Amino acid sequence: MTTTATPARVKSTDLGDGVRLLTLDNPPVNALGYALCGELVPLLEAAAQDASVNTIVFTGANGMFSGGADVNDFNTPPTADTKTVRSVIEAMERIDKTLVAAIDGNALGGGYELALACDYRIATAKSRVGLPEIKLGLLPGGGGTQRLPRLVGAYEALQVMLKGDLIKAPDALAKGMLDEVIDADVVAAAKKYAGKPKRRLSERKAELGVANLGLFATPFVVAQAHMMVPPEENGGYAAHKLIDAVQAAIELPFERGWAREVRLFMELVQSKPSAALRHVFFAERELSKVPGLPKTEPVEIKKAAVIGAGTMGTGIAIVFAEAGIPVTLIETKDEAVEKSREMIFGMFKYQVDKGRLTQEDAWKRANSISFETDFAELGDVDIVVEAVFESMPVKKEVFAKLDAVTKPEAILASNTSTLDIDEIASATKRPDKVLGLHFFAPANIMKLLEIVRGKETSPQTLTTGIALGKKLRKVAVVSGNAFGFIGNRMLFEYEAQAVQLAEEGVSLARIDRVMKQKFGFAMGPFAVADLSGLDVYHFISQSQHGQPLGRIPIVAKLVEQGRLGQKSGAGFFKYDKAVGKGREAIPDPEVEQLIAQLAKEAGIAPNPNVSDDEIIARCTRALADSGAELLRTGIALRPGDVDIVWIYGYGFPPHHGGPMHYAAEVGYTPHGGTTKTETKELTHA
Ligand code: NAD
Repeated sequence: MTTTATPARVKSTDLGDGVRLLTLDNPPVNALGYALCGELVPLLEAAAQDASVNTIVFTGANGMFSGGADVNDFNTPPTADTKTVRSVIEAMERIDKTLVAAIDGNALGGGYELALACDYRIATAKSRVGLPEIKLGLLPGGGGTQRLPRLVGAYEALQVMLKGDLIKAPDALAKGMLDEVIDADVVAAAKKYAGKPKRRLSERKAELGVANLGLFATPFVVAQAHMMVPPEENGGYAAHKLIDAVQAAIELPFERGWAREVRLFMELVQSKPSAALRHVFFAERELSKVPGLPKTEPVEIKKAAVIGAGTMGTGIAIVFAEAGIPVTLIETKDEAVEKSREMIFGMFKYQVDKGRLTQEDAWKRANSISFETDFAELGDVDIVVEAVFESMPVKKEVFAKLDAVTKPEAILASNTSTLDIDEIASATKRPDKVLGLHFFAPANIMKLLEIVRGKETSPQTLTTGIALGKKLRKVAVVSGNAFGFIGNRMLFEYEAQAVQLAEEGVSLARIDRVMKQKFGFAMGPFAVADLSGLDVYHFISQSQHGQPLGRIPIVAKLVEQGRLGQKSGAGFFKYDKAVGKGREAIPDPEVEQLIAQLAKEAGIAPNPNVSDDEIIARCTRALADSGAELLRTGIALRPGDVDIVWIYGYGFPPHHGGPMHYAAEVGYTPHGGTTKTETKELTHA
């Protein structure tokens, strides 16, 4: 075996018997950036020229095949000399030798497209393959939309690319996306393909892969696909272009189909939805880097406790159990324990029914949650998350007790939504080990976690919170300790703006419809308020010196009438058990009348000409203004953090990139603030 002197990012090795191995080595994920492609193309050309080579095997170092194109490159348009994934694949097409992809680890996006350009694809069982470009508002631009339909049929290819999921090697084998899955040295296995006949996908015809539809099969499948994805202007921009590209694969010769794919890809790279999704991708990657946080090792969390087995406490316990951390739930009320147990077993049973967990694993996890009534059981836990009633005296009493019974190095966290972490910490002798861990309901489903640092929270405690967030598979955002932290503080301003629109005579149903269907929120603002509970908003108003939502005391009046939202069958809207399982909002003229009357009494003039665009502008500006205020005061560290909170916690449409990104995109400068440039350093006492 001889290894030639090779450039850094690709290693070229002769394995004997005419086999040349090209190893992608560009840590951490062997991204096919411009620089790597610039090295790979000449190596391919050299191999093509070398008469002693009859087979080229591609593989990856660093436990990966390749994570695909380098996302950073999308912001740098290639020049005539730049080598891209496409240049690599074009060079492969020109090679008249056997090409084999030997995949050990993930082969994603451009990485899997490279494999698609080979004659044979083999992978280890632990590998995963996929074309997840849609998640960044793009489509595979290295011929993936043309080759995958030729490999597995257009129908299956559409499913794979529209979902963008990573597919485990055995499943990919079943779909035909791989030729062989092995449990051994993948390069040695690849060698067995040396000299086998070429079989380029570009030379094949794409089949639809759907039987019995006759002449109308293609138009039917294409039309169905367009119907299945969201509208272009509301999150489906890339999906429709992807379907167009696959249609080209069926209808056009390979070269022309690929040219179509390239054009559509270029349009997407420059599109606003893709820019927004890429912003979200980078913002998410930044989260664990907290500016100004001194480097310390996190404390290892081997055992946890949760106080209060209510809605949140039960969900949080499930999250720990799912991450393999045994957890003790402290609850004093028998009926709460019963309800909690039911919820836990119901949830794990659901996972088994869905095929996500084996019976044995589900049983193991459910049983890693134990119930206790006595705090004395908590002597050996590494962290406690308190989720009792939202009351300062109750929380302080709990924290004082925890301080007395837990080991001195244990971290004490609160799941409070609104209370002051510093005041809670003052009930203990270890304020440096106290922080907020604000989960969202339902805690075992919602991805967002706000990590709240108090003024005495130590760097190590915060670092541990961040590491724990990762272990619990949450998207964790660090927030300062201020009323409502990041998300709920902004929610209050957003809801207030929606109420103000209603005061001016815009119907609640219209505001909700515009924000949901036209702007793309998961739910409208009034449906959200009804889901959270109007009593919660009322409580918040009172704790904020009686400041109402909007300019009229509508929430107080509704709460007075017992209209607490979905849970009481009426809030801003009505709910009927017979309609949508009691979850569907039904407009209620009585509420509209009450708002009109209160607005009149407050001297607010009706505004009959409010356009849909104005509804969107006012609601999103309220968010951006509030977000800018949080940035200015250092509660939020980066605009991207604010965006992540709203996308993962409040259903803000990702294709608009979050409130701060959206404001910058539409050219709105928030009151006295900024959307994009500021990054605050963390300051510590
Ligand atoms: P909940 O009323 O459903 O549950 C509270 C539980 O705590 C009850 O079962 C109660 O019996 C128990 N409890 C009270 N005092 C206790 C004590 N001293 N020892 C042991 N158990 C005790 O309330 P929830 O909705 O789960 O909220 C809990 C906390 O989470 C609150 O601080 C709330 O603000 C916060 N929170 C709630 C949500 C939400 O949407 N519900 C979201 C985020 C955060």
